[in-house]
Amino acid sequence: MDFKAADDLQDLQYFGEYGGVNPSISDSSTYTFLSAKTMFDTFEGNTEGCYLYSRHSSPSNLYLGEALAALEGTETANVTASGMGAISAVIMELCQAGDHIVCSRTIYGGTYAFMKNFLKKFNISISFVDTTNLHEVKDAIDPHTKMIYCESVSNPLLEVADIEALAKIAKKHRLPLVVDNTFSPLSISPSKLGADIVVHSLTKFINGTSDCVAGVVCGTKEFCLSLKDVNQGAGMLLGSTLDSLRASSILKNMRTLHIRIKKHSENALYLAQNFEKNGFRVVYPGLKSHPGHGTMKKQYNQEYGYGGLMTLDVGTVEKANALMELMQTKGLGYLAVSLGFYKTLFSAPGSSTSSEIPMEEQIKMGLSNGLIRFSIGLDNDIHRTYLAMKDCLKQLNISGHREAKV
Ligand SMILES: *Cc1c(COP(=O)(O)O)cnc(C)c1O
Repeated sequence: MDFKAADDLQDLQYFGEYGGVNPSISDSSTYTFLSAKTMFDTFEGNTEGCYLYSRHSSPSNLYLGEALAALEGTETANVTASGMGAISAVIMELCQAGDHIVCSRTIYGGTYAFMKNFLKKFNISISFVDTTNLHEVKDAIDPHTKMIYCESVSNPLLEVADIEALAKIAKKHRLPLVVDNTFSPLSISPSKLGADIVVHSLTKFINGTSDCVAGVVCGTKEFCLSLKDVNQGAGMLLGSTLDSLRASSILKNMRTLHIRIKKHSENALYLAQNFEKNGFRVVYPGLKSHPGHGTMKKQYNQEYGYGGLMTLDVGTVEKANALMELMQTKGLGYLAVSLGFYKTLFSAPGSSTSSEIPMEEQIKMGLSNGLIRFSIGLDNDIHRTYLAMKDCLKQLNISGHREAKV
């Protein structure tokens, strides 16, 4: 693919108020006008470049939005106070009572809970399908369907969506395809593959320092403006506004995103390949054994690799817990949810981030309770990490094949 997101990002130039190399931070909730007429026009949305009130927009949030639009290659982007703030606003903007959504059955637990439980209040129904099975997707579409929703690399099973194929189905039925690209920034460019709207939790890789929560909606000017509409817009009215100070710190962290993603991917591939060789049940899109490997190769931006997430199935929840605790004691990472940190993070999704998903559904989707999700860190010497992890496994008598098949 010839889309060069990192170059586009690098080419963006900002100057601060006094010629600073970082844009000045706008530290105001409200803005003055020289004339009352301009204030009225701004309210009506007619004056570009004028700020009214920071829930609507602020210079710092617009700068960050510009960088994220460059990252995804969309016309524009609106930043939000969390990934869920972005996701819920998009859904509420596109759907109303009586509508229907076709959604991947393996998605982030919060998104799953929002769709399955919260949307009931609005009489919006959801078909959760296996989006890697295109027939299931087609069959689920009905006259009330208003969107198709998936994650490019799904949480926590790391299923890879064939975005091009899904976009074709979406286009044919005149439906927007909404893709959550949180797991694979730079590696996958959903909008270049035909997605209409791309959302992210910036909390994860994009910010990369686990010090804040934020999100973004990337899309057309028309859609992003509609989200901000003072009378109707779900973004404006649900009020998930990112603080300017935080927007500016996220923008600074984005400067190193390309370097970080390459290192996360390189390290994860190394561990995945080696643990697979040792007979462990490893899931990583970079492995030939992964069912989505071909799809990934077809659509990824090679230089950024297959991403920083991998899973290891050690058979039972007891073993998973013991391993995570030991690894934390040995300084190999943190037993914590979330992802994209410099240090490896691990959690057992069945009892944490995906606990919103009922047990029988978890079993149906292949989420076993001995599954550990790893967000592999930026370790300088990954071979050293590999040896230390192997020691932990050995100490707990967790071996390859036999245990993993439980
Ligand atoms: C974390 C996450 C979200 C939610 O983002 P928040 O910033 O926590 O609101 C959504 N989708 C995916 C894939 C995530 O990992």
